[in-house]
Amino acid sequence: MLEIRNLSAGYPGNPVLNDISLSIPHGAVTVIAGPNGSGKSTLLKALAGILPATGSVRLDGLELLTLPARELAKHVAFLPQNRTVPEITAKNLVLHGRFPYLSYPRRYRQEDHEKAEAAMKKMGVWDLAGRKLATLSGGQRQKVYIAMALAQDTPVVLLDEPNTFLDIAHQLQLMDQARALAAEGKTVVLVLHDLSMALECADSMAVLSQGACLFQGSPEETFLSGHLDRAFQVQVQRVQTPDGWKHYFSGKTIL
Ligand code: ADP
Repeated sequence: MLEIRNLSAGYPGNPVLNDISLSIPHGAVTVIAGPNGSGKSTLLKALAGILPATGSVRLDGLELLTLPARELAKHVAFLPQNRTVPEITAKNLVLHGRFPYLSYPRRYRQEDHEKAEAAMKKMGVWDLAGRKLATLSGGQRQKVYIAMALAQDTPVVLLDEPNTFLDIAHQLQLMDQARALAAEGKTVVLVLHDLSMALECADSMAVLSQGACLFQGSPEETFLSGHLDRAFQVQVQRVQTPDGWKHYFSGKTIL
């Protein structure tokens, strides 16, 4: 379990997360859902050590909040939502994921090249290895960034809106890849805007609203709790299909 206890984090003059407690299971895909501005990205940034935070985040008993950045990066990989496009090749970007493991002089070892290649093959972008990032499509670049996070080879993988830029086939493929990572035992945490995808692909969900965690449970429990309806101010409904539940939404405001 990744045990988050009484976590508070935010920005100067804007204390976004207020005393959040959550238990995130290993070997599972957990989706953080919540309306715009509810604190989802802030939560991931706090877990990745990018924002200062108070409280406790324990990974199998190890306190992560006090680990030096380089050590933390051996446990937690984070793909932020907004990324720059450096003037380098796809392979060199993915190699950056190996940074926490390099010692002086910072030269990549055989193992680092192998991990980068494996991560790129997993994401189906090995054929793009020599291409400059700027020459890739948004979707190709997105997969290269995800490969960088995978090359970091950490037990916890945090992806903020990983489906951005991906068409529906690639979104579904990415969900399969997230599930495959979970099946390897990793703790996969996704921020997703697509609630039907979240309800249909997640093992576990947490609903954030205004910096607080309203609910945590399985997708079924989350749907039945009504917290998604309250947080998003919509009606979440579902129909049974041969492929399982399919969810749909109506904008009727619930007061
Ligand atoms: P979400 O990911 O749920 O959309 P965020 O965590 O990005 O929400 O944002 C939560 C709150 O923090 C919002 O009110 C947002 O305006 C604010 N915020 C986000 N980034 C910054 C920043 N760099 N500086 C100040 N406030 C920020």
